[in-house]
This record gives sequence, structure tokens and C-alpha cells, in this order.
Amino acid sequence: MEGAVSIQTRATKGGQRRLARARARAAFNLIELLVVIAIIGILAAMLLPTLSSAKESARRIACINNLKQLRIALSMYADENDGQFPPRSRPYWMTRLWQHYESLPVLKCPTDNPEPSPKADPAKPDDPDFAPRSYLINGFNDYFEATLKPLGSSQWSDFTQHKWPFGFPESAMRQPADTIVFGEKNSDVFHVHMDFYQNNDINGIAEQSRHGTGVKGSRSGGSDYAFGDGSVRFLRFGQALSPINLWAVTDLWRTNAALPPMQ
Ligand SMILES: [Zn+2]
Repeated sequence: MEGAVSIQTRATKGGQRRLARARARAAFNLIELLVVIAIIGILAAMLLPTLSSAKESARRIACINNLKQLRIALSMYADENDGQFPPRSRPYWMTRLWQHYESLPVLKCPTDNPEPSPKADPAKPDDPDFAPRSYLINGFNDYFEATLKPLGSSQWSDFTQHKWPFGFPESAMRQPADTIVFGEKNSDVFHVHMDFYQNNDINGIAEQSRHGTGVKGSRSGGSDYAFGDGSVRFLRFGQALSPINLWAVTDLWRTNAALPPMQ
């Protein structure tokens, strides 16, 4: 009997040890699982910013493509209109160039979210002048100031009131590779032209930091621009104005980056 008891006791002890080992094994598995979860978490945290910056790169490229299409449309328009860009009067360039780009989403930068101004007008869903838009055309104010003011005050005031019937002649651009024709605008404004004579639109109307590391409205990152020679380039914040004011065509304004308000 004694022997049987002792065998039973040994058997029980052996079972407890196995149970304890199994428990230890289960606990170790749990730790392993937690470690794996933690590693996955760290990897995801490392990958997510890369993914979001890849998404922003794709949006910036789509924006560049929009500007290329608009720039081509502008050349086609000028070819049909004695070499002039659209006049600064209604209907605006979005409508005048329409037959050469024919797609409202081309007017919107994919990074420009939520929907930029103007808000789509339900009464005019197909009117390009009222479609959500991210871009401005150069108003070429310095050229018109230099050519219209000498003619008399009524011509210049017609221009400022969006009544001057003629557009900017492409041939008056002497450095097309370094002259901006389209740029990005602030999401919240309706403005159609980049004008200097009003209140220097560069501060409140043009958006100089839509893309890259810049936070909207900050002085980092940059925006996309279409140029007179047909190229489309990304410029860092401030490069559109300094050292040369790339929105201007006259020597006086190109080299005068600290722009005084026009009278
Ligand atoms: Zn853009």
C-alpha cells in the first residue's frame, strides 16, 4: 500500500510539474504575441507617414498635370486670338479656355480640400466660371499699368473694373521661362486673377505653400506654377517673388519684390 501511495504521490507531483510547465509555456506564448503586436505597431507607425507622403506626392503630380492642361489650353486660345491671353473681363478665363480643356476637375488641385471657393452653384453646375477652383491666372497688372495709363485714366479704370476688352499679348513676355502665368490660390477666395494693383494679392490671394511639408498658409512647403514657356514647376514658399518677382513682366516690377500698392 505504502508503495502504491508513494507512486500515486509521485504521479500527482509529476502532473503538477507538467501543468506548471504548460502554464509557463502559455504565458510565454502570450508574451511572444504581445511582442509581435508591438513590432507590428512600430512598423505601422514607421510606414504610415511614408504612405501619407506618397499620397501627397501623387496629389502634387496631379496638380502639375492640371496646370499643364490649362497652360496648353491658354496657348491654343492665344493662337486663335491674335496671340492674346483672355481679357480680364467676364466671362473669365475658365470659360474662355473651356473648349480647350473641357473638364471641371482640371480647375481643382487634389490637395485643395475641402472644396475650394467658389462653391459649386447648383443653379449653374456646368458653368466653369462658378466651378470650385484652385488656380489663378496672372492679371499682368504691371504690363497694363505701363501701357494703359499713358493713354488716359479711362483706359486704366476700364481695366481695373474688368471692362478692358483686350488681353495680355504673349509676345510682351520677354522672359517666358521665368514668368508665371498660372499659380495656386487661397482656398477661401473667389479671385480669378493675380493682381498687384488692388492690395497686393500675393499676401491674401495666392497660395504659396499648398504642397510639401508646408501647412496651409505657413511659410514652408511650396506650390505649383505654370510658366510662359509651357513648363510647370514647383516653387518653394517665397521663390515666386524673390529674388525676381516672377508674376511681373516689366523690369520695374520684376526687380521690385517689396511691392508698393499701385495707385
Ligand atoms: Zn496644387
